[in-house]
Amino acid sequence: SARARLQREREREKQETQRRAKMMLAYMDHAAAAAEPDAGAEPAVAAFAAAMDFGGLVSARPAAVVRPASSDDVASAIRAAARTAHLTVAARGNGHSVAGQAMARGGLVLDMRALPRRMQLVVAPSGEKFADVPSGALWEEVLHWAVSKHGLAPASWTDYLRLTVGGTLSNGGVSGQSFRYGPQVSNVAQLEVVTGDGECHVCSRSADPDLFFAVLGGLGQFGVITRARIPLSPAPQTVRWTRVVYASFADYAADAEWLVTRPPHEAFDYVEGFAFVRSDDPVNGWPTVPIPDGAHFDASLLPANAGPVLYCLEVALYQRGGGGDGGGDDMDKRVGEMMRQLKYVRGLEFAAGVGYVDFLSRVNRVEDEARRNGSWAAPHPWLNLFISSRDIAAFDRAVLNGMLADGVDGPMLIYPMLKSKWDPATSVALPEGEIFYLVALLRFCRPYPDGGPPVDELVAQNNAIIDACRSNGYDYKMYFPSYHAQSDWSRHFGAKWSRFVDRKARYDPLAILAPGQNIFARTP
Ligand code: FAD
Repeated sequence: SARARLQREREREKQETQRRAKMMLAYMDHAAAAAEPDAGAEPAVAAFAAAMDFGGLVSARPAAVVRPASSDDVASAIRAAARTAHLTVAARGNGHSVAGQAMARGGLVLDMRALPRRMQLVVAPSGEKFADVPSGALWEEVLHWAVSKHGLAPASWTDYLRLTVGGTLSNGGVSGQSFRYGPQVSNVAQLEVVTGDGECHVCSRSADPDLFFAVLGGLGQFGVITRARIPLSPAPQTVRWTRVVYASFADYAADAEWLVTRPPHEAFDYVEGFAFVRSDDPVNGWPTVPIPDGAHFDASLLPANAGPVLYCLEVALYQRGGGGDGGGDDMDKRVGEMMRQLKYVRGLEFAAGVGYVDFLSRVNRVEDEARRNGSWAAPHPWLNLFISSRDIAAFDRAVLNGMLADGVDGPMLIYPMLKSKWDPATSVALPEGEIFYLVALLRFCRPYPDGGPPVDELVAQNNAIIDACRSNGYDYKMYFPSYHAQSDWSRHFGAKWSRFVDRKARYDPLAILAPGQNIFARTP
């Protein structure tokens, strides 16, 4: 009867309300949640963890942590916030930001890791294959699922894979593959996004492209990504991984740029590199170079006129099974041909053959060691910059060989990529030149005063580096920018700023989303 139907509907509504109420967990006291601050493993991000991030420099206590089970839950949380005059909403991936970008002071934090980890293989009529993944999946989970279940893999990665799909797509996602395959934001076919009005959209290059591109590199400002469709291709089986050493930055940069501008069939699959200190210091010096473990670095081969800072170029070539790339002999030939033309210090070359998954998981060992020595839990005042090739030699002289000649107690990455591999329609801000370098100062200091320097000193050093870039007129942008004044944001985005502001007005008019980026203030 109509009455019974009405009663059933009311009961369903009641259950749904109860479910939603449960989803919004009241914030617990710090002390009560003595949980692991790194929320990697389980969806149970304690409120304690949501008030912190990998950087350990800022802390902002949310009003509640929401554990969405679906994009509808994400939409409900955003709509609930919109009905208030003040609540904001931050999607939190794995909290590996370093300046509070995934926090919401007094607002709602969406623990995106709580989304069910359902991954699906999608085959287009053309035969192209894709992974449909929840945005809270770690890239490591995507890798293991794609390779073990389907023998397939995405083309573009980050160095470290315990980052979420939504987190890196909101920034860029770069590694040694970027020069050839593009960054992760260039390797997405479709997104499901909940915008600041609580509406759920499926967008791509052809459907709702403005939203699609806004969200890519959009620092979480325009919507919460709930699912992503990532192109897949046959997974390589093994990787020829080589490192060579340079004493001259000019030679290093010339070779690195030559390698990243070669035609694909004559190129490596991966080109990276880092600066290190000319010493036997185990953290900053040449012991960080040799692969495989145990290989010897013969420092007597270094030229007598070498400066305080040296450079390690790192390249890799993939081998896929079943022919196509010609197998092992052909690979040796291709590697040999390219290496022969490089101007590295002869004798300081290291090579290893490793499995593809092991290669992509190489930074896990760094994490294990950092957890052991206490530097994983210590603050991480990291600085990431994109610097145009035009100014990279000047930067090397002033900063790497000047301010940082003793190292940063962690990797100092410096390697080139190509602007043409980035779609200008995305929100990412890049330098002007076609070739630009990622410079990543990844400090892994021991906590102060147990062996590490005071963190304020390191933050001040980062600020001095940025000041040097600005006052010397370098063509640069911050990667993972952290600014507080809108004038700084406007300068950061440059010609893209007015579009960024327009998109904000279109997709999140009340400025509810990602308040931890400090770009827009919540409109009551
Ligand atoms: P979070 O820190 O949780 O979030 C970052 C920002 O994205 C926040 O503003 C958040 O609100 C927003 N966000 C998160 N999820 C979503 C979503 N689903 N929808 C919308 N917005 C969202 N980066 C590289 O490019 N290459 C590297 O090789 C690399 N290596 C790293 C190694 C380590 C050890 C660490 C700590 C970081 C590294 N990063 C690297 C940086 C990393 O990509 C960023 O810190 C990224 O933001 C972290 O992802 P996350 O999932 O932890 O995101």
